Amino acid sequence: MKVARFHAPGDIRIEDAPEPVAGPGELKIRVRNCSTCGTDAKIRKHGHHHIVPPRVMGHEIAGEVVDTGARVQVIAAIPCGRCEECRRGRQTICPNQESMGYHYDGGFAEYMTVPAKVLAVNGVNAIPDGVGFAEASVAEPLACVLNGQSLARVGAGDDVVVMGAGPIGCLHVRLARARGAARVFLVDVNAERLAMAAELVRPDAVIDSDPVEQVLKLTGGRGADVVITAAASGAAQEQAVRMAARQGRVSFFGGLPKDDPIIALDSNLVHYRELTIVGANGSSPAHNAEALRLVAEGAVTVSDLITHRLGLEQVLDGIDLVSRGAAIKVTIEP
Ligand SMILES: [Zn+2]
Ligand SMILES: [Zn+2]
Repeated sequence: MKVARFHAPGDIRIEDAPEPVAGPGELKIRVRNCSTCGTDAKIRKHGHHHIVPPRVMGHEIAGEVVDTGARVQVIAAIPCGRCEECRRGRQTICPNQESMGYHYDGGFAEYMTVPAKVLAVNGVNAIPDGVGFAEASVAEPLACVLNGQSLARVGAGDDVVVMGAGPIGCLHVRLARARGAARVFLVDVNAERLAMAAELVRPDAVIDSDPVEQVLKLTGGRGADVVITAAASGAAQEQAVRMAARQGRVSFFGGLPKDDPIIALDSNLVHYRELTIVGANGSSPAHNAEALRLVAEGAVTVSDLITHRLGLEQVLDGIDLVSRGAAIKVTIEP
């Protein structure tokens, strides 16, 4: 079978590999869709400290169980299920977290095996009827978005700002609407990408410069109830805090580059305005199941966000599209 393997930064190869054999307690899957995201672009450029090469990449996985034909979606982040955090129901911050495509071979392959550890934490979800494999593969990033918005308590009547008009930003806009947000504003410094995203997710306003001033203007000086940064940008995080309303919630959803994680924060804004700043680290198995449910019920549409469907040989082209911001969601169909 064909796989896309990471060997070193800048060195991802399409290779022939023997079909994997499922060991005891494992599940063999015929991968139907494995979608790409900014994380794959980051791995290609810099590698990742959890990836010991060679490793088959791909963590947004949907396919068929070989033995039964069951249609399934697979989690990406694997909590241990046994530590103190997991026992308290906080699986997203499990310190022993492992990931598909990092610690285990992922979905850029015709076949893959799902580790027993994934099954042990209910990490394999049945895809509801009416949901396609490509849509199901987007349940993983949507699950992360769900985690972020539940930590930021996005709810009815909120004015929400999403900074970053990539696939994650688009999912944030859609989910905020599903959760009853009053208005959603979408911000991106790349006007072209912003226009492409806005065409699909129809925010109440788009902002491509001076976001703090624009948000204050749009909200009558009040600021936004929730600001979500879906971009690896310290500047966006600094602006997010300044555009938050009193008692606003700020989600630092996207992480910053490892070598540049320090921002300037006016602590008095947090103090006097009673702001809450939250992070977000992936998603739990339950978030993945919930994301599939939201897609199945039509609460969050994802099919139109999938702008490119490519074969496995075109994985690198797909990652290029993602890096250049020239696509919304790129899915690989091995
Ligand atoms: Zn991803
Ligand atoms: Zn744990």
